[in-house]
Amino acid sequence: MSLEKNILEKSAEILSKYSLCDYCLGRLFAQLGRGLDNNERGYAIKIVLTLQAHLMLLSENPPIREKGLSILKNLAKTGFMPAIEVLKKYGYSTEPIEECYVCKGFISRNIEKLLKKILLLIEEYEYNTFLIGARIPRDIAKREDNIKIAYGLETLSESFKSDLTRILGKRLQQITGKTVDYRKPEVIIIIDLTTDTIKVTSSPIFIYGRYRKYARNIPQNKWLCSKCWGKGCEHCSWTGKKYPTSVEEIVTEPIIKFFKAKKAKFHGAGREDVDVRMLGSGRPFVVEVINPKRRKVDLRRLEEEINAHGEKLVEVSELKYVSRDTVRRIKVFAEYTVKTYRAIVSLSRRVIEEDVQKIETTFKDIIVSQWTPTRVLHRRADKLRKKKVYRISAKKLDDTKLELIIVCQGGLYVKELISGDNGRTKPSISEILETQAICEELDVLDIAEPVKGFM
Ligand SMILES: [Zn+2]
Repeated sequence: MSLEKNILEKSAEILSKYSLCDYCLGRLFAQLGRGLDNNERGYAIKIVLTLQAHLMLLSENPPIREKGLSILKNLAKTGFMPAIEVLKKYGYSTEPIEECYVCKGFISRNIEKLLKKILLLIEEYEYNTFLIGARIPRDIAKREDNIKIAYGLETLSESFKSDLTRILGKRLQQITGKTVDYRKPEVIIIIDLTTDTIKVTSSPIFIYGRYRKYARNIPQNKWLCSKCWGKGCEHCSWTGKKYPTSVEEIVTEPIIKFFKAKKAKFHGAGREDVDVRMLGSGRPFVVEVINPKRRKVDLRRLEEEINAHGEKLVEVSELKYVSRDTVRRIKVFAEYTVKTYRAIVSLSRRVIEEDVQKIETTFKDIIVSQWTPTRVLHRRADKLRKKKVYRISAKKLDDTKLELIIVCQGGLYVKELISGDNGRTKPSISEILETQAICEELDVLDIAEPVKGFM
């Protein structure tokens, strides 16, 4: 603001052109003074202006009297009672009150209404912190900018939007005892004045755990029927799914119920095939709970509920609350873990004495080169992976079958390590035994953290 005019002169000039409510006048000087709200700023300016104009009205000098009178009339037009009273006292007529040029009376008229609506909406949420955001009609912002620019107040003022959200935030704090948090609010309230709607969402909650899978026909994720894509058809007995259930459904359904959430996303640290069991201490996962209404759930009880839901086929353990960052970490984790598998392998010839030794000496700290397996090539890019096999121990089971315990790096395709996938995986069990080897059964026995305490 140019300093040649003081706040009062500037305000009188603005009010001679525009009728402004206390909020909208005060907001033009929002950066001045501390511990005040804009309503108080505007009100204070109007009081001092009324006193000054009243004093001018008492002057012997006609031009000064005229000026005082016009200031009082402009104040009266905004509905400012002290100015109206002065005019009345001296027998001057007043013009009808005009609504605020910028907000059209919105703030004084709607704050309490908005608060009531918000309180009703957030009642069902459990939260300690919140944040209010707003979308406001373009014409309000435009009118307010016109004044700021015309009077050089750009750096001293505050926008309608931030004032509105602050007023509401402050009132909401007083009523609910919760706190505004700009960085990580648990609940976000968006007021859209362009559509006259209020939307409340809560920030997601992340839960880490490990799952074990004891059955050979359960996929990790919900698997839609390939004929109807979830709509339901004869092919899938109207379930819309290829498999009746999945680890994802078993784990997330109780979570959605406990947290009164809208939905939940399952993020696994890698995945095993549908027909592969996940044993040992289990595979790490993180569930992202979306728009939860409850935030403090007893995870021991949740664990019991999930395990009951899993009917001894899927089981979870070690549930704990974690940060969003853990989702990324478990993806990285999957690449660097050491995994132990048990495979039942059948050969197309009889098992001979040297087989066990050949396998054990070849697969010792060796890098295996693997092109994307033929069976997943339809949905993954063809790319060469190099993964380490630390060791394999082999045992003859019967005439044509071997049991292998394979310790390798995460991300290695074990079925192809055995079959060789027509030379796309090298070396392979088929290749070194010079016969066709097929993986009959596969279990994940252990997934070890790359570094203790990684998760
Ligand atoms: Zn206003």
